[in-house]
Amino acid sequence: MSNFLGSALDSALGRFRRGAIDAARRALPQRCELCAGTSGSELLCPGCARALPRLGPACPTCALPIPDGAVCGRCLAQPPPFDATIAAFAYAFPVDRLMYAFKYHGRVALAEWGAQAILTARAGARPDRLVALPLSRERQRERGYNQAYEIARILARELRIPLVRGGVHRDRAAPPQAALPWTERAKNVRGAFACELDLKGLSVAVVDDVMTTGASLAEFARTLKRAGATRVENWVVARTLPPRSD
Ligand SMILES: [Zn+2]
Ligand SMILES: [Zn+2]
Repeated sequence: MSNFLGSALDSALGRFRRGAIDAARRALPQRCELCAGTSGSELLCPGCARALPRLGPACPTCALPIPDGAVCGRCLAQPPPFDATIAAFAYAFPVDRLMYAFKYHGRVALAEWGAQAILTARAGARPDRLVALPLSRERQRERGYNQAYEIARILARELRIPLVRGGVHRDRAAPPQAALPWTERAKNVRGAFACELDLKGLSVAVVDDVMTTGASLAEFARTLKRAGATRVENWVVARTLPPRSD
């Protein structure tokens, strides 16, 4: 079988399997993803859900913690190309474990959990369009799905906001950001995205699973604004806190 046919078949099977898993999950009592206790129809039991590391007061632009919840010094000094960031959790134990299972072990049922967390954190924000941060074609083929897209399509369904399904690309298969030191990441993503859509006058929320330095999201926001978007927000499940300097 050709590679193309093989991957088309894989993705059709994947969609079928995911639909079946989603349906089974709703029908059966669940085991908590973290402690294996009973969790009803939810992925996590109430105890584990309550203990997740939530973000306290944070900069509305970049979502990094700041005691008074005002725009942080870094965003004031050098405003990023995006206008706001909504993050449900800090990227710390056990959120990191859940995200890892989602990203690398195909636990796509976790997309529902991530989307619900964003819905709770969003506080009424209502953009004109949703778009998932694109993966490069190579990365998407390796993984079989784009974890950001899996979250975004649930958000689009719940909020009835149109989801951008094509016309945005990640062009270069640059080295994965995770392999690079923080200072190298902005350079690595420069010019990485393309947008063929006319977004004139539209506000857009970009959905991703984890915001680390924000370099990819910043570059993508720049690309969307060049295509006419008037406002770009990041909607992420978890925000990595910067390494401590001491
Ligand atoms: Zn639990
Ligand atoms: Zn900030």
